[in-house]
Amino acid sequence: YGDFNQKIDYVFKVVLIGDSAVGKSQLLARFARNEFSVDSKATIGVEFQTKTLVIDQKIVKAQIWDTAGQERYRAVTSAYYRGAVGAMLVYDMTKRQSFDHIARWLDELRGHADKNIVIMLIGNKCDLASLRAVPIEDAKEFAERENLFFMETSALDSTNVETAFLTVLTEIYRTVS
Ligand code: GDP
Ligand code: MG
Repeated sequence: YGDFNQKIDYVFKVVLIGDSAVGKSQLLARFARNEFSVDSKATIGVEFQTKTLVIDQKIVKAQIWDTAGQERYRAVTSAYYRGAVGAMLVYDMTKRQSFDHIARWLDELRGHADKNIVIMLIGNKCDLASLRAVPIEDAKEFAERENLFFMETSALDSTNVETAFLTVLTEIYRTVS
């Protein structure tokens, strides 16, 4: 297959984790295909989507993995984390519980993934500002304490989606190049 892959300089695996319904699949749809759907169903049979981009004149293929409905505690298997060099740790900023579970997701991630993995904490659904249940200060404080990048995003109106993925991918690139 030499020729087919010739132009790709790097493949970076990035995993999406967090409670069910926080918007992981829609963040991926927005980033990979610039799509959004209101009644999203678990994508069956598709484990990841790819997007190829240029970072520092290198061709980087981002392979973004989605959980496909395995978000129950400990249902996400170690194969999911294997080889991941980046992670998006997603909560819904209108659902306090999804933020309270972040510490648990982070534990699981750190238990399974490479110790140099680049992690971005994401407060999704920031278009629903009037329903905010997680103060931005709480999230910032947590991210600083745990050494994570942090952004609030909206898969619905696109706020920060591209920026969040690009930040993680660029940081991964820095650590491997
Ligand atoms: P997942 O279970 O984490 O993959 O969550 P989904 O991506 O399936 O999204 C769950 C629900 O939240 C769906 O009804 C989405 O349309 C909705 N949703 C996802 N992202 C956003 C967002 O940024 N803003 C709003 N308002 N709704 C969103
Ligand atoms: Mg999903």
